[in-house]
Amino acid sequence: MAAEEIVSGVYGIAMVYVNAFLIAGEDGLALVDSGLPKRKDTILAVVAGIARQPADLKHILITHHHVDHVGSLADLKEASDARSYVHPADSPIVRGDEPQPGPNPSSLLGKLAGPLLARLSSEPPAAAVDVEVEDGEELPIADGIKVVHTPGHTPGHLAFFLPAKGVLFVGDAAANVFRLGMPFGMYTADREQAKESIRKLAGLEFDVACFGHGRVLKGEANLSFRRLAEKLAR
Ligand SMILES: [Zn+2]
Ligand SMILES: [Zn+2]
Repeated sequence: MAAEEIVSGVYGIAMVYVNAFLIAGEDGLALVDSGLPKRKDTILAVVAGIARQPADLKHILITHHHVDHVGSLADLKEASDARSYVHPADSPIVRGDEPQPGPNPSSLLGKLAGPLLARLSSEPPAAAVDVEVEDGEELPIADGIKVVHTPGHTPGHLAFFLPAKGVLFVGDAAANVFRLGMPFGMYTADREQAKESIRKLAGLEFDVACFGHGRVLKGEANLSFRRLAEKLAR
């Protein structure tokens, strides 16, 4: 099984090249992102692996509208009655009311490969958004989760901070594939905003950072974000 316990009660679920995370609280389960399309069974196998039922899944927190993060949202909602949480700037795309914007044409690779990729990449299955959440909101989920609006990668990108465990779910506001860095240029809508969002995250007090792409950073992870923010400011 592709699940790893990162800190007590927080599990990483690796799906090909993207990660989702499961938080086990006394009152139920919360999932951060839903992975690629057709991964419902992968995620529910992790739920079963910690002796919980699909009905225990109460909340699905979505970092942003990209297909590798919302792909299995509709299927999981059908299997579980979980409520979905999305920022209002990304929710029309998650609902399928607006098309995926595709690669950023202002990046060189996006200009060259964008039209081809836009044709190849499938639209994610549309899913209902139950709760629109904004910056600074505190959700009464798993000892309290703080919503951090981190626009740039997408306009409605969210990070989720679990202060009780010192864990930050970064989404694609940054990635840790080779090393900690900016999210992928071609798929980032606004680079300057994305840098500002990394500065914002660097101001939080977290010990562990969980990424949509790449390895978990453990132990004073916020210091790595501060170094990255300084580097980007130069
Ligand atoms: Zn993304
Ligand atoms: Zn992603």
